[in-house]
Amino acid sequence: MPYPAARHEICPSCGTQFGYDDCAQTHRALRNAWLEAGGPWFSPVQRRPDDWNPFLQVIAAGYEFDVPVRSPWIKNTVIKVLTAGAAALL
Ligand SMILES: [Zn+2]
Repeated sequence: MPYPAARHEICPSCGTQFGYDDCAQTHRALRNAWLEAGGPWFSPVQRRPDDWNPFLQVIAAGYEFDVPVRSPWIKNTVIKVLTAGAAALL
């Protein structure tokens, strides 16, 4: 989501219901599980952006994850460069 989640709001990307799913698991653990499953788009109502990629969304939001990038067009080396570039800007 492009803004901080409100309580009980459901993320259209990953399907996390904040205030419910994150009661027993950390956001990082939820993020890792979602990305491990390939980061499938959740919302049947809100349309997935055409150029959307779950890994790039997480990186752009500034969050970390612990699973290898699974994408036919993104290599881990690119992710490392993006992450290092983002860190250099901070
Ligand atoms: Zn989400």
